[in-house]
Amino acid sequence: MAKTKNLRLVILLIAFLSIFFFGCSASQSNENQISKHNIKITDKDGVKLSDDSSDFVVLSEEIPDAILEIRYYSTYNFVGDRINGYEQPIALITKEAANALKKVSDELIEKGYRLKIYDAYRPQKAVMHFVNWSKDLNDTRMKKYFYPDLEKNVLFEQGYIAEHSGHSRGSTIDLTLFDMTTEKEVDMGGTFDYFGESSHPDYKNITTEQYANRMLLRETMMKHGFKPLAEEWWHFTLADEPFPDVYFTFPVNINSVNTTK
Ligand SMILES: [Zn+2]
Repeated sequence: MAKTKNLRLVILLIAFLSIFFFGCSASQSNENQISKHNIKITDKDGVKLSDDSSDFVVLSEEIPDAILEIRYYSTYNFVGDRINGYEQPIALITKEAANALKKVSDELIEKGYRLKIYDAYRPQKAVMHFVNWSKDLNDTRMKKYFYPDLEKNVLFEQGYIAEHSGHSRGSTIDLTLFDMTTEKEVDMGGTFDYFGESSHPDYKNITTEQYANRMLLRETMMKHGFKPLAEEWWHFTLADEPFPDVYFTFPVNINSVNTTK
């Protein structure tokens, strides 16, 4: 009888100690989670900024099948210059978004397509480059390619350019499909970063085939957890993104990811 009582006491003690230690480690991990984001600055709009890249990966290391055409590293974009913060022609992305995108890639490869990536994580500095460019109304070098039907002074007020981009949160991606049979980009009835109604995914004045191509990309992305944007057929954000309110500032450079691990 005494032995049983002692045994019960020991079990109770173990249970108590387990709760105590697990409780501590849980709150410890919460603290790590908060400090991990390393939110140093809150900008004038109350937006949280962070330079902590520890949750980011190099997209090509996770999805070697993806083709990269990082337009903001090149001058073929609506500005016409390499964009600030794009130090290498690579794509960085959060681990969570990379995992979901890998599933999209694997499924589309079975159907004869590869993903072609135009942009992924975009540093806040790059977004400010866009804002500053939008204020220089005389610089319309790329108008005929990217916004032929719009005056430059409406780009900011109509929301084409904004002070913050979902891309800076690290789980948003711009992409299209590449057809491995024709060895060409799939015809989406419009081109990346074209400012106008024809970029809306549900735009009706395109062919049935072009529309079907948009829907193939859209439906496969949505199936694996991404949400589309009503204005741009190429733009998707992980619905359950890990940093829904943090905007990152480190440059697009492989060292941003490797040095913090
Ligand atoms: Zn985008």
